[in-house]
Amino acid sequence: MAKKIVVVGGGFAGLHLIRRLEGILRPGEVELTLLDRNNYHLFTPLLYQVATGELPPHAVAYPLRLPIAHAHQRFVQTEVEGVDVERRAILTADGDFAYDHLVLVPGSVTNDFGIAGVASHALPVKTLQDGLVVRKRILETVENASREPDVERRKALLSFVIIGAGPVGVELATSMRDLMDHSLRRMYPELDLVRDPKITLVDAADRVLTAMDERLARIAMKRLAEQRVTVVLKALVSEIGEGVVRTKDGAQFRGGTIVWAGGVKTHPLVSGLTGVTLAKDKRLVVDRTFRAGGRDDLLSFGDAAFFEHEGKPLPQLAQVAVLQAPAVAKNLARLVRGQVLEPYEYHRKGDLIALGRTHAGAELARAGDVVLGGLPAWTVWRVNYLMQLLGVRNRATLLLEWLLSYFFTRMVADTP
Ligand SMILES: Cc1cc2nc3c(=O)[nH]c(=O)nc-3n(C[C@H](O)[C@H](O)[C@H](O)COP(=O)(O)OP(=O)(O)OC[C@H]3O[C@@H](n4cnc5c(N)ncnc54)[C@H](O)[C@@H]3O)c2cc1C
Repeated sequence: MAKKIVVVGGGFAGLHLIRRLEGILRPGEVELTLLDRNNYHLFTPLLYQVATGELPPHAVAYPLRLPIAHAHQRFVQTEVEGVDVERRAILTADGDFAYDHLVLVPGSVTNDFGIAGVASHALPVKTLQDGLVVRKRILETVENASREPDVERRKALLSFVIIGAGPVGVELATSMRDLMDHSLRRMYPELDLVRDPKITLVDAADRVLTAMDERLARIAMKRLAEQRVTVVLKALVSEIGEGVVRTKDGAQFRGGTIVWAGGVKTHPLVSGLTGVTLAKDKRLVVDRTFRAGGRDDLLSFGDAAFFEHEGKPLPQLAQVAVLQAPAVAKNLARLVRGQVLEPYEYHRKGDLIALGRTHAGAELARAGDVVLGGLPAWTVWRVNYLMQLLGVRNRATLLLEWLLSYFFTRMVADTP
């Protein structure tokens, strides 16, 4: 009888696994079911462009039914509520799904570090809906400011505080400034959108982009200054109130809009597992073949897994999940066929950071660890994401929307 494989999560890990398995598995060899609460895959690296009107939402969402139909497997859109590893069952709103092999890849969730007011007063940037909410807020804010006669109140409305100077915060800040400078300025002659908007980037660390090469952080700092983004470092946020961010050392930052880009934590489906080994940060500890606790019935990778490499866990990056997917697919097929598994060796590719119109930073680890800035890095950045996006339709949409946003204007009407 065909083995039952259930994949929980159609993110970078789940989607790339399905695509790889298609080329490996023989017809009818397994019964595979992919479960996800959404019927699309979200391309998170470009989410900030949805938040700043550079891209429409459909440009970063890839229909999960496409690769599943192609692979002749099954997709069920459902909310996964729990995993019973002893009974080998996935508990969902639509009933239980039994499995022989589970690939648990639900990603991660926004981490508020227990800071009061994050959920109620700051906007997260994790889901497609989050991106649309941020865009709506920016556009509403500019409309409200255009009706506000008082200069100080107008400036207060147009102040944006972004917490977290990792890639999401840096890319959002630089793109937000481009939105003001290149699209909104032309449409709101009654506002001074060059001088009045204030964008502040706050982080507890002593530099921006702590997970990336220091040379990229230097390029980013230079560009942030050019983009008139105020960067406040070593500022540990202790509380967020209505329009105000307070730090542990007593500083306050006022923001008509506050965005939380403070990081992620382990998904509750993983941190709530029992009978398996979890790391200190509650990620599922897997061995170099991606098995949890040496079990053949439970595999994980991507953000959910704690995969140790050179004494540290691999970072929670799309790049990591995509690089791991082919090795997981091969090992899953080996498990189904009763063959010996092969350990995975990680080789990072480097990092990319977008820094607004025609600027980026690129660290190419596999090309002599070269670091590029400016237009060359921007070209690498754009080509890389065009190639990474799946499907001709999505690539064509991305290219067209980028050209339209660059040469004309961004999506600046507050549409649903
Ligand atoms: C705004 C943003 C920007 C980023 N930019 C970059 C970048 O530039 N480069 C980079 O390398 N990484 C980036 N990352 C990190 C990257 O998105 C993650 O590392 C990557 O998505 C991990 O892949 P994954 O498959 O483990 O999880 P995900 O891609 O998050 O996929 C998890 C899937 O599980 C589904 N799911 C979760 N819970 C449930 C449930 N209970 N029931 C049903 N389905 C569920 C979700 O809908 C989702 O489809 C970014 C992250 C964010 C938030």
